[in-house]
Amino acid sequence: MTDRSPQSRKEIPTQAHLDPGRCRGHARCLTIAPEAFEFVDTEDRAVALPGGERLVDRAVLLEAMAECPEQAITLREETGED
Ligand code: SF4
Repeated sequence: MTDRSPQSRKEIPTQAHLDPGRCRGHARCLTIAPEAFEFVDTEDRAVALPGGERLVDRAVLLEAMAECPEQAITLREETGED
């Protein structure tokens, strides 16, 4: 079982992006990482919660990305560079 606590998170700052044009509302992402994604009933799709990616282990975000059938989720490491 994956430890989901922030204390266990490897310190690789990561941003999670959810492409609204790809999302089809399967809700797998928020089942895996409810701290990072939320379902918007009125739009029948999910959104990435601002800062939510900091509340879960990166491995959990990678699992959510891998389980999205629409490949709507991407992760980007924050390097501090543009
Ligand atoms: S699993 Fe993918 S398609 Fe389904 S709600 Fe999440 S982002 Fe959208």
